[in-house]
Amino acid sequence: MQPKGNNKLVLVDFDGTITKNDVGALLFDSFSGEKSKKIVSEWLKGKISSKECLQKECELIEITKTQLKNFALSQKIDEHFPHFVDLCKREKMNLVILSDGLDYYIEIILQKYHLEDIPFYSNTLRFAGKKLVPEFPYFERGCGNCGNCKKYHLKNLRRPKQKVVYIGDGFSDKCAISEADFIFAKNDLKSFCEKERISYFKFKDFRDVILVFSREMETFGLIKSKIQKAKCKIAIRN
Ligand SMILES: [Mg+2]
Ligand SMILES: [Zn+2]
Repeated sequence: MQPKGNNKLVLVDFDGTITKNDVGALLFDSFSGEKSKKIVSEWLKGKISSKECLQKECELIEITKTQLKNFALSQKIDEHFPHFVDLCKREKMNLVILSDGLDYYIEIILQKYHLEDIPFYSNTLRFAGKKLVPEFPYFERGCGNCGNCKKYHLKNLRRPKQKVVYIGDGFSDKCAISEADFIFAKNDLKSFCEKERISYFKFKDFRDVILVFSREMETFGLIKSKIQKAKCKIAIRN
């Protein structure tokens, strides 16, 4: 689906970026007695794909629909994110959520905060009794490593010459940022950008993102030094 609007395409990761916790990681950690940690470390080392990682994590746990729903409902989002959503609406920017997590909890959390209008693309979840069966509707179109490759969605959603802003916090965002014009990064994604010498805006929460957007709106993307300047301003503020 092509988002409506003429301005920028703003792509945002879900787990740990919109939500305070990495909801997926916390879910599997809590319900597997932390057995999932070993699987995740294999993925982080590049030994298994994120698709395999999610499949193996799902195999580890048993959970009812109600338990998973309650777990999702207990999760909180960054309190500044709704203001960022308003900013995107005001500026007619197309905001889309890209996640390598599962639709079931994303939907519940977005509904909890009345944000269900934001389109999102993720892996999907099917319940088989108390077992979770992840499904990967976009896998074939991706890089072969990600369950839901964000780079595929970026390329698919982007209109000709449209500038793309990418906001994320982790390794599942790596594929997408090579194609993005502006990157907002924290945590593992920030370390990755540092290591690969990729320019980015650092952020702690959406208050920082809003700050950069409002200060740099007109020249965003035109002058690289502006990006550095904004980064410095934030560094000073923090
Ligand atoms: Mg994340
Ligand atoms: Zn990928």
